[in-house]
Amino acid sequence: MNIVDYQEIADESYRWLIENARGINEPARTAGIHMTELVYCLTSGYYDKIMPLPVTQEQAILMALGIGFEKSLIPEEKRAKPGTCEGVEYSPDFWFTGDLPSELKTTRMSTKKTYTRDFPESWIQQIKGYCYAEGKLEYGLSIVHMMGGYNPPFPKILGVKFIFDQKELQENWDYLMWRKTVYIQGFADQRAPTPTKWAMDWECKYCRYATSMIHCNLRIAK
Ligand code: SF4
Repeated sequence: MNIVDYQEIADESYRWLIENARGINEPARTAGIHMTELVYCLTSGYYDKIMPLPVTQEQAILMALGIGFEKSLIPEEKRAKPGTCEGVEYSPDFWFTGDLPSELKTTRMSTKKTYTRDFPESWIQQIKGYCYAEGKLEYGLSIVHMMGGYNPPFPKILGVKFIFDQKELQENWDYLMWRKTVYIQGFADQRAPTPTKWAMDWECKYCRYATSMIHCNLRIAK
């Protein structure tokens, strides 16, 4: 037996992934503002709408994993319908036990983070925003930990329920609305919000606009 490298088949797989990721995203794309755009980098959201670059191979794989799990795990009849609140679109993934809006996340993060409740700030902002929009104080989260605890068994699914008070939901909403003002002003001025100013610390490292000369043109430390 002889086994040789065969990059062409890997390249073709990437091509399928990127094509499919593009197709899956298209129906969801609207001219409106989605809440996740206000949570993540505003500059990136602006470029996605005005002068987008294709997703990278790595992003296509991660998107496919998330979409694949969502399609395999959430029954059609449990899926939540998208809504709009104060001009912002939002879309919980599903309803659990009939009236609990809930989310499914796929992550390479260790299960340890869920056990210690060390969740990304972006997840919390999004979930608080969805709670506010739905007029709920509670939200379910099912997390597919692709790598488990980085020891077998993996993958592993863990679940948590968030319970908020109205004050913290309002504060989060006010924060998102402040970002919305900045975002909308960018479109009005036809100028992207200032690079890095509206991004979380880790975002630039994984962003396709980072080193593009006509986008952010940043020097990213390796
Ligand atoms: S490189 Fe950073 S600032 Fe620029 S769009 Fe990406 S995440 Fe935002």
